[in-house]
Amino acid sequence: MKCSYCNRDAVYLQRYSGKHFCKRHFISFFEKKVRGTIKKHRMIETGDVVAIALSGGKDSTTLTHFLIENYSGRRDLDFFAITIDEGIANYRHKTVEVAKEVTRELGIDHYVVSVEKNFGATLDEIVKFGKKSPCAYCGVFRKYLLNRTARELSATKLATAHNLDDESQTILMNFINADIDRLARLIPQREQEDLVMRIKPFREVYEREVVIYGMLKGYKLIFDECPYSELPMRATVRDFLYEFERERPGRKISILRSLEKLSECLKITNPQIDLNNCEICGEPTSQKVCQACKFVKELREEIKIEHCRSLVYEKV
Ligand code: SF4
Ligand SMILES: [Zn+2]
Ligand SMILES: [Zn+2]
Repeated sequence: MKCSYCNRDAVYLQRYSGKHFCKRHFISFFEKKVRGTIKKHRMIETGDVVAIALSGGKDSTTLTHFLIENYSGRRDLDFFAITIDEGIANYRHKTVEVAKEVTRELGIDHYVVSVEKNFGATLDEIVKFGKKSPCAYCGVFRKYLLNRTARELSATKLATAHNLDDESQTILMNFINADIDRLARLIPQREQEDLVMRIKPFREVYEREVVIYGMLKGYKLIFDECPYSELPMRATVRDFLYEFERERPGRKISILRSLEKLSECLKITNPQIDLNNCEICGEPTSQKVCQACKFVKELREEIKIEHCRSLVYEKV
């Protein structure tokens, strides 16, 4: 099959648009699309210091390359990467090494932050005794360390590699759970003190487009899966959306558009509340005590774990 824009062989069929892309036109489509998302949502602006959440997996590796290759020529911007090492045996060590290679190659500062060094226990130890799912603990401790590290290193934005598949799953899960507060939190509203604003440059491109772009650009991508990755509910929603998208291409885009159309109403019905500082650690939270400190309290009876007092990170 030929490219819809030139005479070269196509490498990708975009099912929702019916267009075929050769390598050159796919790269150009992808870059234009992501740059358009960044511009439309004013994700990166003059003076920004962008911390990139780089796990070393395929999506965040591609994001790091994308941001540095497309934006680091601008003197009014600065970038560095943060990798959280949750302490997951036979998995995280390898991606941390890939992350180090990526930042060495791109010549940007890189900080590795360990859950164990900051809280006293690895995720593997936590999940042995905790009553929640591994991802519940992982998500809370990772977000905590990402935000705190980004803020202490003076970042103004925190870029994550969430793509259209992730976003549409999260939106649908919030609807299914009738969690409209959480749904509203997906819409960027105003800045909150101590919370570094998150940006998701890949939120309008499919996961497979991110991977194809990364492969066509020749980045070294690894496809290892976290051993805890089979979250029952997210996996069910993911599989449902996969089937739905196969039958009716473009539905994931409509889910994202639905949220955008609802955003003005949600800002009124579920306005952003001012955050407090956690009574224990001082980090921003909507409660009196942040979720990380609550988990520590709950787990302390079972394992040796403690509140994160001062942040520990390793500069690579
Ligand atoms: S799959 Fe779950 S436990 Fe594994 S890295 Fe992702 S959030 Fe953490
Ligand atoms: Zn072409
Ligand atoms: Zn706290």
